[in-house]
Amino acid sequence: MNRLDMPKGYAAQAKYADDMPEGDALHRAAAKLQVLTGQRVEVETPHPRAAAKQLTERLDGRTLERVEAVGKNLLLRFEGGLVLRSHLRMTGRWRVDRKGAQRVGRPWLVLRGDEHEAVLWNGPVLELVRDEGHLRRLGPDILDVPPELDRMVERLRGEAGRREVGDALLDQKLVAGIGNIWRSEALWDARVSPWRRLADVSDLELRATLDSAHRMMRASVEGARPLRRVYRRAGRACRRCGGVIRSHPQGEAVRMAYWCPGCQRGGNEPKE
Ligand SMILES: [Zn+2]
Repeated sequence: MNRLDMPKGYAAQAKYADDMPEGDALHRAAAKLQVLTGQRVEVETPHPRAAAKQLTERLDGRTLERVEAVGKNLLLRFEGGLVLRSHLRMTGRWRVDRKGAQRVGRPWLVLRGDEHEAVLWNGPVLELVRDEGHLRRLGPDILDVPPELDRMVERLRGEAGRREVGDALLDQKLVAGIGNIWRSEALWDARVSPWRRLADVSDLELRATLDSAHRMMRASVEGARPLRRVYRRAGRACRRCGGVIRSHPQGEAVRMAYWCPGCQRGGNEPKE
């Protein structure tokens, strides 16, 4: 069961910043919503905070033209050039139900098509925009096929060399779509410590890390059960070298980094 399918109470209990949906979760949500594209949709905003955004007035009866995940945003394009941007943060989730399904509680948004309805629960970021100018600031999407590894490396090289690679990988301006699970797993896979400074990580190592993140996240989009080697395994043995996995908050966003000091060496590794 992925986060987007969790019952409401369960999702609302999520309290770790590293629980945020990643690009692959957004892609699965986008895939579910495809059943509504090409249809004229009825729009309801049962939740008062969503009602205040006057989405019903502006969107009801318009055709939903496209749904796509861009980085960590879900973009719903309606006829007339209107784009609804949904960012799920920690608690938001989209469900697709059969039309007229019973539900308890007040979702933020209901988009009702011919046979299905898409329902957004706990949607903290929901805004209607006329164009996607602000999204141009996002880096290349890690889930693009093929991924633009050269451009990602170029963006990372444009950052201050003293910035730690584990922190930089979460910066959506540099690479869009990577969250805490996959930055931890990809760095482990490529044997790169999250604490190394960008200046001390070779292009080859950056590419290997990004390529790992891309492959693991694509597999997750296709439904593979993710293999966790370090994420939330602090104190347990590394499956590669037997070292003891550590965790420590990293970067301005203070997200928890997970790594194996045995096979991901170097950098400004925090003292135990
Ligand atoms: Zn190890």
